[in-house]
Amino acid sequence: MRFRALARPHCKPKRKSNLCSLTSAFPRCVCSLSETERIYDAFWTQTPTSMAEFSDRKLPPIPASEQYYNFFPAKYVTAYLESYLDSHIYNDQTLRSRIRFSTTVTKISKLPNKTWQITCTPNSQVFTTSRLIDATGLTSLPYIPNIPGQDSFRGLTLHHKSFGESSFLGDPNCQHVAVLGGGKSAADVAYAAAKAGKSVSWIIREGGNGPAAFLGAEGKGPYKNANDSFYTRFTASWLPNPFRFGQPTWMERFLHGSKVGRWMVRKMWERVDRENRKKAAFGRDEGRENGFASLEPDTPYA
Ligand SMILES: Cc1cc2nc3c(=O)[nH]c(=O)nc-3n(C[C@H](O)[C@H](O)[C@H](O)COP(=O)(O)OP(=O)(O)OC[C@H]3O[C@@H](n4cnc5c(N)ncnc54)[C@H](O)[C@@H]3O)c2cc1C
Repeated sequence: MRFRALARPHCKPKRKSNLCSLTSAFPRCVCSLSETERIYDAFWTQTPTSMAEFSDRKLPPIPASEQYYNFFPAKYVTAYLESYLDSHIYNDQTLRSRIRFSTTVTKISKLPNKTWQITCTPNSQVFTTSRLIDATGLTSLPYIPNIPGQDSFRGLTLHHKSFGESSFLGDPNCQHVAVLGGGKSAADVAYAAAKAGKSVSWIIREGGNGPAAFLGAEGKGPYKNANDSFYTRFTASWLPNPFRFGQPTWMERFLHGSKVGRWMVRKMWERVDRENRKKAAFGRDEGRENGFASLEPDTPYA
């Protein structure tokens, strides 16, 4: 995903960098997560429309019927990124033509002349470059735990990465689905399976902090979407923000560097925690039978 963000400044006509991206992803996978094969109906963005587009190309309008407080199906991001790669042409080359798909980096070494040598499969191709950016991501390799007895299990075992390609939700022989894990991928599968009429057991290890925080979608004040209001400069000042560049502002120094400020930060997040638990109403009556109360996070939201 980061490639597109990096590519644009590096390819601007004045810079004329000879940029090339090497990715093990298949040709139709312009974005590791929104690749065509990985899309499924329950895959919605966690970011609103306004945060899903680059500043130089608008996201085409998404029908209001397909939005929930500006959250929307991920398939629209895929279509947007596909068209972005083809419509951005620098030095007579589209962004797409600068990507070598199905190319896995197996070795990187620094040469005496301080350039990088990159060896890839297939065919042991070698590239050299003076600038190298590693953007191999944290979640691109599936982790499948070893479960005692899994060899004798006769049902289908699937990693979330293959969920979009699988047809088990439509299989009448598959009536029960067990989902392991407490994050966004697990939540999507549990939701999709329940919606398809399967009985679902959602299994989250003890000490794993419970399911990932479920926050309300609705924004506050002028913001229609909760994430929109979260990513303002004002709200960001209340985070211990490790991604901030440059010097802290006076407000950040006050909030995180003084006793009163830290007290205010703690109180603010306690309030967010209280409000979200109240909104989710984990103890509500209609959830009693199916264990909805178990979805309440074990740790504070923030
Ligand atoms: C289910 C789910 C839903 C999400 N929803 C959202 C959302 O709605 N909004 C949002 O902002 N974020 C969302 N995220 C998070 C977001 O997808 C990640 O933060 C983002 O993809 C990280 O981008 P990246 O470029 O760092 O890495 P990745 O997107 O993981 O890209 C890494 C790339 O490197 C390639 N690669 C790895 N090793 C090699 C190698 N040796 N040689 C060559 N290529 C290699 C991989 O094939 C992959 O293409 C979601 C995450 C998940 C799991």
